[in-house]
This record gives sequence, C-alpha cells and structure tokens, in this order.
Amino acid sequence: MIKVNITSKSFASVPVLSRVSFEIAKGETVALVGPSGIGKSTLLRILAGLDMEFEGTISRPDNQAFVFQEPTLLPWRSTLDNLRIVHPKLTSDHALEMLDRVGLSGKETLFPGQLSLGQQRRLSLARAFAGAPELLIMDEPFVSLDPETAKSMLAMTRKLITETRPATLFVTHETIEADRLADRVLRLESGPGGATLRT
Ligand code: ADP
Ligand code: MG
Repeated sequence: MIKVNITSKSFASVPVLSRVSFEIAKGETVALVGPSGIGKSTLLRILAGLDMEFEGTISRPDNQAFVFQEPTLLPWRSTLDNLRIVHPKLTSDHALEMLDRVGLSGKETLFPGQLSLGQQRRLSLARAFAGAPELLIMDEPFVSLDPETAKSMLAMTRKLITETRPATLFVTHETIEADRLADRVLRLESGPGGATLRT
C-alpha cells in the first residue's frame, strides 16, 4: 500500500505543491493528469524518494521502478547489459526473456544508439519490470512516439502491469491513455499555496 501525504513542497520558497494526499492499493493503476508545469514530475520524484525536501510523509515499498520520459539508458552498454546492470541477480535467460516480452529479441547485443526511440522505450520498460516492482512510477512514458508505436507500447505496458500487479502511478497528457490503463485518475490543479488534487 502506498500512502502519500504531502503538506507542502516549494522550490526556493516558491510553493509548487500544497496539500496532496492519496493512497494506491497493490495492483491498482492510477493516472496523474494536470497542466504543464503544475508539479506532476515533482510529485513523482517525491513519491520515488528522489526528492526529500518536502513537508509531509510518504509510505512506500523499497522495490520500485521509475520509467522516465527519456529512456535513461547507458549508451556504451549493450541492450542486455542495460538490463543486467540494474538487476545484477537477473540470469541471462531471464534477461533475454524480458527482452523477448517487449519485442526486443535478437537486439541484445545492440547499443541504445542503434535502437529506435520506440525500442529504447521498450527496453526501459523491460528494465522497469525485470525487478518485479511493487511500486511502478512512469512520467509520460508514451510521449512523442508515433501513434502506432504509442498504442503498442501502451498494450505492452498493460500486459506487464496485469502480470506483475504493481501499484502504479503514471503521468499522461492523453485522456485515451488514462482511460485504457488507469483504474482511477488524479487531477492536479492550481491553488493559492500550490497545486492540490481536484476532488
Ligand atoms: P510538470 O511535470 O507538471 O510539468 P514539474 O513538476 O516539472 O511540472 O514542475 C513544477 C514547477 O516546479 C514548475 O514551475 C517548475 O519550473 C518548478 N521546478 C521543477 N523542478 C525544479 C527545480 N529542480 N528547481 C526549481 N524549480 C523547479
Ligand atoms: Mg513533468
């Protein structure tokens, strides 16, 4: 169970988030939407434990994965090594199986620069799911892909979520992505002392 109870978050005394409280149950998928610059990425980073400069409390499992908007792969490591560096206990067989599940079989020796953007995104998806996370956080994972690629990525993510059942929070701008993937939608909207969730 994920419990977020932020009372305030500021950058250099400029308030970004005001009171933001919600819970995510195991196996539940929640979309986070809101206008650009409102604080969605900031909220994700706080939830992930990447930003600890805030007022409030977070309770979350240790085993988590973060899929960033940019694939954040190591350019000088092969596709297979990009998986294995993050998950040193992963056997080669399991790593190859994960690559196969995201449609990257046969690409294991290629470097990220030799993959298309869609393939790089799928590799970061495989990397996220390879650790069977209890908490999955994704920041606009399908942005700037062509519609076909975005659609197949979404279907793949849906399947991996169904199999792994993490608690998931993801940011999207697309209503259709929220509808297809999420059980529930959280909306950030601006308020006097920073953004809050619309109720
Ligand atoms: P969103 O993801 O909803 O587009 P962000 O969470 O990235 O919004 O940003 C929310 C606000 O916080 C913006 O005004 C942004 O400029 C500001 N901000 C984000 N990160 C930092 C930072 N590291 N230092 C200062 N201001 C920041
Ligand atoms: Mg953002």
